[in-house]
Amino acid sequence: MISENLFNEAKKFLPGGVDSPVRAYKPYPFFAERAEGSKIYDVDGKTYIDYCLAYGPLVLGHANPLIIEEVTKQLKNGTAYGVPTENEIKLAKQVVKRVPCAEMVRFVNSGTEATMSAIRLARAFAAKNKIVKFEGSYHGAHDCVLVKSGSGAVGLPDSPGIPEDTTKNTILVPFNDEKAITELIKKEGKNIAAIIIEPVMGNVGCIPPKEGYLKFLREITAENDIVLIFDEVITGFRIAEGGAQEYFGVTPDLVTFGKILGGGFPIGALAGKKEFMDMIAPSGTVYQAGTFNGNPVSIKAGLTALKQLDSNFYSEMNLKGNKLRAGIQEILDSQNLDFKVAGLSSMFQIYFTDRDVLNYEDAKSAETDIFQIYFNKLLQDGVFIPPSQFECCFLSLMHDDDDIQKTLEVMENAIKTVK
Ligand code: PLP
Repeated sequence: MISENLFNEAKKFLPGGVDSPVRAYKPYPFFAERAEGSKIYDVDGKTYIDYCLAYGPLVLGHANPLIIEEVTKQLKNGTAYGVPTENEIKLAKQVVKRVPCAEMVRFVNSGTEATMSAIRLARAFAAKNKIVKFEGSYHGAHDCVLVKSGSGAVGLPDSPGIPEDTTKNTILVPFNDEKAITELIKKEGKNIAAIIIEPVMGNVGCIPPKEGYLKFLREITAENDIVLIFDEVITGFRIAEGGAQEYFGVTPDLVTFGKILGGGFPIGALAGKKEFMDMIAPSGTVYQAGTFNGNPVSIKAGLTALKQLDSNFYSEMNLKGNKLRAGIQEILDSQNLDFKVAGLSSMFQIYFTDRDVLNYEDAKSAETDIFQIYFNKLLQDGVFIPPSQFECCFLSLMHDDDDIQKTLEVMENAIKTVK
């Protein structure tokens, strides 16, 4: 069946025809048949250079041969045990070795579970209830963070079904704004348990922190007994071996992971100093549990992925990212367009706005209608990016010079169309 027909059929059985809202772009999404390296192939016979990469996990590209080999061996030995395995210790050790704040790790199944558990832990540790999140940041689909979230939820202040009682403890502030945080903490600091932040905002496009901003947050939270949580579900293992903490030289109290850590399989994790992590059940009383926590297949895939993510890998990814962003900037300059190219390392996005993009309000000034035309043109010409202005595009190790060259040609054409 072709994608259009599959989508019509899917809508009868899956709400909106998909299993996650952002996947349902107009008029219908392509249905995947297979994927390998930097390419994804659809059931209609088309090939795309993929910069969505399943929304971030596939930093080594699709179907990484080593991961496939190791996971295949694991599958033959069983897919879930419900008892501990040595590989969980090995992966935890890898996380601890790389990530500055990590002394212990709890493996869960998704980024959503990771942030949900990290927030519970922070509240228990601080013995306070309020949390602060940034306008446009996305920390998964659980209730207390689904307030002015980025990603597919942009524009929704909330979701039906979330009691006001649940979100009344969530305070919103603009990103990259020191004054807003300082004033908030002056007023409310004694009630604030935690600040949760995507160190690089990856769910409103891509917005890096201003120079010194994360350091400022570290200092002001430490002074006010507020737990600082870095949500590194996107940046973790993507922008440096130790993620944003290493990249920006700022160490939070707790960190959450997902995506890359599972080597293309479902995973999440929270990590932090022993004094925090020891509060988690069963060593402590903060409840956290899951049938598939520490799943042997995801753990094996994650271990095999991390083995391939050494310092050379990160240098190469930075080069690829710089090359692509510089190429896009050149296209914009040559057409005298003041649109913004954002990103760092292997993350990027274009904003169709002349405003500098430092926070959610700036991101919302981008012309989403233009973005849709640009997206459709790229798709037509064989380049797949996430179908929303408010998602981030990703490179993988498998994107070679030819891919980048072809992508820039396709982008140039698309940008001429929207001009
Ligand atoms: N946190 C961030 C920064 C994310 O980007 C995401 C998902 O995109 C999540 C949390 C939720 O992760 P998951 O989709 O694995 O539940």
